[in-house]
Amino acid sequence: MAVDTMQQFVGRDQAYPSKRVAGERAADFAEIAARYAVPDAEDQAGRCSQCGVPYCTVHCPLHNHIPDWLRLTAEGRLREAYELSNATSSMPEICGRICPQDRLCEGNCVIEFAGHGAVTIGAVEKFITDTAWAEGWVEPLVPGPGRGQSVGVIGAGPAGLTTAEQLRLAGYEVHVYDRHDRAGGLLTYGIPGFKLEKPVVMRRVERLAAGGIVFHQGFAVGRDATLDQLRQRHDALLIATGVYRARAVDVAGDERDGVVEAIDYLTASNRKGFGDAVPAFDDGSLDARGRRVVVIGGGDTAMDCVRTAVRQGAASVTCLYRRDRANMPGSQREVANAEEEGVRFEWLAAPAEIAGDERVTDVRYRRMRLGAPDASGRRAPEPEPGEPLDAPADLVVRALGFDAEPLPQLWDAPGLDVSRWGTVLVDGKTLMTSLEGVFAAGDIVRGASLVVWAIRDGRDAAAAMHRWLRARAASERLAA
Ligand code: FAD
Ligand code: SF4
Ligand code: SF4
Repeated sequence: MAVDTMQQFVGRDQAYPSKRVAGERAADFAEIAARYAVPDAEDQAGRCSQCGVPYCTVHCPLHNHIPDWLRLTAEGRLREAYELSNATSSMPEICGRICPQDRLCEGNCVIEFAGHGAVTIGAVEKFITDTAWAEGWVEPLVPGPGRGQSVGVIGAGPAGLTTAEQLRLAGYEVHVYDRHDRAGGLLTYGIPGFKLEKPVVMRRVERLAAGGIVFHQGFAVGRDATLDQLRQRHDALLIATGVYRARAVDVAGDERDGVVEAIDYLTASNRKGFGDAVPAFDDGSLDARGRRVVVIGGGDTAMDCVRTAVRQGAASVTCLYRRDRANMPGSQREVANAEEEGVRFEWLAAPAEIAGDERVTDVRYRRMRLGAPDASGRRAPEPEPGEPLDAPADLVVRALGFDAEPLPQLWDAPGLDVSRWGTVLVDGKTLMTSLEGVFAAGDIVRGASLVVWAIRDGRDAAAAMHRWLRARAASERLAA
């Protein structure tokens, strides 16, 4: 190892790519951070101390070879860095943008523990693969020799796309079914452009389509086919449909005009970014322009909603969350970004009533305090005595998270076993559901989670399906 290239964390400060100033970035939906210039990426990668047991890798769900591609970057061997990074991740430039690095790789970097500030792993990862795309190093998807077996993937989010790619590489005919008109799942219609610009997602999808994966967009299982009908069409199936049943706020007035679901709100905004006609946006129902917006919730979805409202030109944006800042599920980095962009946070604030006539005018909320830990281990909020407070509102966005839809009922598939939360149950070893030849991956198995976990699950599911399909082909040959 070239010591003078690496281990520079004492003399070289941590430096993320510069963020655009809040006033400028709040006026558009472009990503807020610039990309490293080559020397800056090399310098930052060179801060890594090349740990023998790299905790960054241990805490990356994909177990990326982080120290190795950091070293290659620091040495200016960018193409090799890309190839290594691409070997373990199906979408490194996407993870580099939107992983909560503070909780994963960077949060476990030893340099962070030593007080020097973590190596900026995510920003380097994004830099490496963005460079690869720009330089033409990202190879087309070349399918392996045909196997004469076909696979159906239900859901074109990161889990489904990852499995589709891996199985196409292995030589299967792959069909992806998705109820949306564009592939990408929440990468396309959930996560806003200021975190993940859409061309970054679309170029991945286009590469998969060019590699022979057949996309059936606008195809909803449960409406356009039952699960059984798809089982007849394919040798194996993957369910990767994510979780979309919004949790209710459960207070009086929840049904008033002007109270909307986060996923509808974000999808409309993302569609406008694609230039689509969106009647519910164009008639003002899902547009925050000039409105006093209150977002209820404290997770990533709520952070995306408040920051979207700022960009749409809301008159004011307030976020109500029932725990305090330290106990919120959303990323601290995103809260800081939202604050810089002018969002007001009311911590320890739980809605008591959504007031108004037909249309909402106010959200009444109670001040909370944190009591003893609940079943999740987090301190449970309980109301403080006193009168409710008032947040004036013309648009209220419910962003309390998502549960699984009831797939066995929706898909006429009573044999598909699900947990009491509705998530699909899979065997821990085979990753198969209760139905022979039907596998599952991503949020629909874990519950609402992260893109990087969906990619990990998608890769694991592809490996498990490949094993099962090979065994099946072998037994059919024997029987013939
Ligand atoms: P999804 O991405 O949800 O994809 C599922 C696909 O299945 C969708 O395209 C859907 O249309 C399709 N589908 C569903 N039902 C059917 C059906 N019946 N027939 C056909 N198709 C169907 N994670 C991060 O790591 N970082 C972030 O910054 C981040 N921000 C987020 C912001 C928001 C607003 C949300 C909601 C989530 C965010 N997440 C983030 C979580 C992340 O997006 C998910 O964990 C991830 O997308 C799950 O991938 P998936 O493939 O399992 O499902
Ligand atoms: Fe870090 Fe996510 Fe990249 Fe892993 S995939 S190295 S956790 S940014
Ligand atoms: Fe480098 Fe930090 Fe990973 Fe150690 S933990 S290998 S210093 S990035």
